[in-house]
Amino acid sequence: MKVIILGGGLAAISTAYFLQDRQDIDEIIILEKEETTGGLCRSFHVGKYVYDIGPHILFSKDKEILQLMLDVLENNVNNCRRSNQIIYKGKYVQYPFENDLSKLPKEDLEYCINTFEKNPYENYAAANMLQFFLKTFGEGVTNTYLRPYNEKIWKYDPVFMDTQMVERIPKPTNEEFMRSAHGETVEGYLHQLYFSFPKVGGIEAVVRGFEKKLNEKCKIYTNQTVEKVIQNNGFHILTDKREFRGDICISTIPVQELVQAYDVNKQSIKEAVSDLKYNSIMIAFIKTKEDLCGKHFAFMIPDQNVIFHRISKMDFLGEEYTHDGATYMVEITYRPGDRYDEMSDSTIFEKIAEGLKAINFAAKSEDISLINLTRHQYAYVIYDLNHKSNMDKIREYFAEEGIWLNGRFGNFEYWNMDKVIRESLKLVERI
Ligand SMILES: Cc1cc2nc3c(=O)[nH]c(=O)nc-3n(C[C@H](O)[C@H](O)[C@H](O)COP(=O)(O)OP(=O)(O)OC[C@H]3O[C@@H](n4cnc5c(N)ncnc54)[C@H](O)[C@@H]3O)c2cc1C
Repeated sequence: MKVIILGGGLAAISTAYFLQDRQDIDEIIILEKEETTGGLCRSFHVGKYVYDIGPHILFSKDKEILQLMLDVLENNVNNCRRSNQIIYKGKYVQYPFENDLSKLPKEDLEYCINTFEKNPYENYAAANMLQFFLKTFGEGVTNTYLRPYNEKIWKYDPVFMDTQMVERIPKPTNEEFMRSAHGETVEGYLHQLYFSFPKVGGIEAVVRGFEKKLNEKCKIYTNQTVEKVIQNNGFHILTDKREFRGDICISTIPVQELVQAYDVNKQSIKEAVSDLKYNSIMIAFIKTKEDLCGKHFAFMIPDQNVIFHRISKMDFLGEEYTHDGATYMVEITYRPGDRYDEMSDSTIFEKIAEGLKAINFAAKSEDISLINLTRHQYAYVIYDLNHKSNMDKIREYFAEEGIWLNGRFGNFEYWNMDKVIRESLKLVERI
């Protein structure tokens, strides 16, 4: 049997990796539209700089998959302890916000304590993300940090997002909250406190590690944009360059692209797909003359006047990523067609420079240089209130058509690398 995998990101490569040992599979073809495989796990190599599409770190509660990632990297990793900060009114509050409240200005701290202690929302069932925040953390923490930061990253009102993303966030106990309010920094989200990162090559090294382990059954074709998927005695796939044939079709390309290529004629499915919400992302790689922010990695910026929501300092990841002055990855999310999408690269850079000065990462514009700016259409799945019902219909449809969906945008789920790999393994067991 011959398998065709649409797309060449981590979902595709890891699916091929798990599939290759099956006796009933003779050939696995991977079709990727870009020049290189890796998708969101690609790394950019610009002169001496190497950086990713946003800070990608290796961590997981799924120990088996985490170990697999470390194995394909032949343990060639740096091990890091998280040091992430939220910049709130010029002060550094250690992430997660609710665990380092004493850093807040006095009146904001009192607002957070009072509304946590006497929380009128505590006993409601949360029907959306904002209600979950109010119920779990109270109005103070919600309004000072959670709401503005989430609006900024999602570019979507949390009132219209469901609770899938947040329902596992633990509610701090009164005691934990008070310890944090009275000056003790309590470590939170312990499963991501320690993480690994490839010593060289950026996060793409994980994809290259899997690729090195693919056998001769697997054939990767890059620069092949899938344009048509036709089912007729097996699958015929037409790319912009040539035709491929296979018995099994696995799609890891965004489901929006698959629907176009498959010529779906069921109106309800077309509508469900066009109702799916996602974010795009711009990644700017920036250098400043001096390092003014110390030994931290990622900084979250809830301030709506600063264009970026997160900035990450590269030297935290290891020697290979350390250069004179400081280098940063800056992230700006946008929704297709919104005001950020329409801004030119030079306007974006001007706004980034304003932001860097506002958070005191640079004293003057002349100290800041832009090394590179890229835009990526599919970055974050948004769990809006219709996500689940839309995806249930779409999955059922493609299951009936015999097309297997996999991956972050193929399956349209907010999946990190560990989950993508786990799902590839599960898929191979089901096929
Ligand atoms: C900003 C950001 C930070 C992240 N941080 C982390 C992190 O710290 N840790 C972590 O574990 N995960 C992180 N992730 C998630 C991780 O990047 C994804 O889980 C993973 O890369 C998804 O892989 P995928 O193969 O499913 O999708 P993708 O990487 O999107 O792959 C899809 C592939 O399909 C190709 N394609 C699309 N259309 C076509 C077509 N018509 N024809 C042919 N090919 C096509 C694309 O070019 C792409 O290569 C982060 C993601 C983002 C956006």
